[in-house]
Amino acid sequence: MPDSLKDIPVRVESRPGSAPVSLYAPHRKLYPRSVKGLFNNWRILFVVMTQLAYYALPWLDWNGRQAVFFDMVNRKFYLFGLTIWPQDFFYLSALLMCSAFGLFAWTSIAGRLWCGYACPQTVYTEIMLWIEQWVEGDRSKRIKLDQAPMSVRKLRLKTTKHAIMLLFSLWTGFTLVGYFTPIRSLTAALPHFDYGPWEIFWTFFYGGFTYLFAAHMREQVCKYMCPYARFQSVMFDADTLIISYDEKRGEPRGARKKGTDPEQAGLGSCINCSLCVQVCPVGIDIRHGLQYECIGCAACIDVCDEVMDKMSYPRGLIRYTTENALEGKYGEKQIRQHLMRPRVIVYAILLTTIISAVVVSLLLRQPFKADVIRDRASLVRETNDGLLENAYTIRIVNTSEQPQHFKIRVEGLPGIKMQSDSPIVTVKGTETETTTLRVQVDPQYASRGGHEIHFFIQSTDDPAIRRVEKSSFIGE
Ligand code: SF4
Ligand code: SF4
Repeated sequence: MPDSLKDIPVRVESRPGSAPVSLYAPHRKLYPRSVKGLFNNWRILFVVMTQLAYYALPWLDWNGRQAVFFDMVNRKFYLFGLTIWPQDFFYLSALLMCSAFGLFAWTSIAGRLWCGYACPQTVYTEIMLWIEQWVEGDRSKRIKLDQAPMSVRKLRLKTTKHAIMLLFSLWTGFTLVGYFTPIRSLTAALPHFDYGPWEIFWTFFYGGFTYLFAAHMREQVCKYMCPYARFQSVMFDADTLIISYDEKRGEPRGARKKGTDPEQAGLGSCINCSLCVQVCPVGIDIRHGLQYECIGCAACIDVCDEVMDKMSYPRGLIRYTTENALEGKYGEKQIRQHLMRPRVIVYAILLTTIISAVVVSLLLRQPFKADVIRDRASLVRETNDGLLENAYTIRIVNTSEQPQHFKIRVEGLPGIKMQSDSPIVTVKGTETETTTLRVQVDPQYASRGGHEIHFFIQSTDDPAIRRVEKSSFIGE
């Protein structure tokens, strides 16, 4: 695997008085050529699906509220029928772990699939490119327009393009805010721009960065800012699927007439048309081997296959393959068998374990949570009847969206009882209710020190919904 870091120019003062060497390659504007083909269709599908999900989700309703809503003020996250509370930190950790192990697994199997098809930077850059092509035309027209002196037409086209890009970016920022403030009320406030400072800040912050990263910086974000590009190589091995140019088949490259038999002409299959470079959104030449800049978009595969079709050569001069297959250690048909490797199996086991734990936890999840806190201010007091009494605060969180009624009883010491018999606590949907209880015990059963007791909190609507909370009773 080539060491691609050598390709990064470094800016250093080598000797006093000598010319400085550039640390970063000067930015060269790219004009990726549009491409058609199987992988391009997949990319379009992913762009459409991810964006449909992103822009449509906040508009969906569930039980009379926004289906996906992060209520930061009340510290509740709504995901369709599920309400996540701060105590459900486990689910957030599980989601983060699944994302990380899923990314590791996919990268080990098929390289930068995430970058090429689903990363927001790729997706938004692709959308900005569509806008650019739609307003300014194809690659050659865009190059001509940029080289032409400023004119009314150029100003009109550039203004239109950037206005559409800005509007799209602001809509993206607005949608993000719509996950945290009900999007319908946000939209209703639009005519008078009746927003709070944080809503304005996040709309412009996220929208501004979408415009900056996707419309202007584009491939530079992947090249210089994204840490994943740098550490992904540790997840690659010689059996990882990567997009590669088949040098043995392609070289020596050279132009020739259509239908020329490469063997007779003493040439490889590459006709040196440079289309694979022209379609590349990061501006690299895949024929130089695997480079860290390659985001795995497969545009070069699509365009080269088109060229091979026109030349009546077999497809696949650039293709998904593995380093070992390219070196002839096994055939292309054996690639699949080599995808399941120990590291992939370990990632798969970890993923399955975490997902199973989440599913089991969701299935066993009680629709309420409860905390029992003994009043530490007054350890124990004696009642007029000569009983010992401890006070407790019981906090019940109704995690369902329907009101619930709970009966509370206490056990653990002979004759233990509550001051009020089996109180019923009513908690509204997704709300919290706190109640104070006094527990009394005959002194003969509660000697000095702590005694373990249990509070049984049970739904009166469905007796199967119940929890037992441990606490302690302090004797005299
Ligand atoms: S598109 Fe294919 S044929 Fe054309 S230069 Fe690239 S590798 Fe060679
Ligand atoms: S080399 Fe090919 S796969 Fe890699 S970024 Fe360029 S076009 Fe996409």
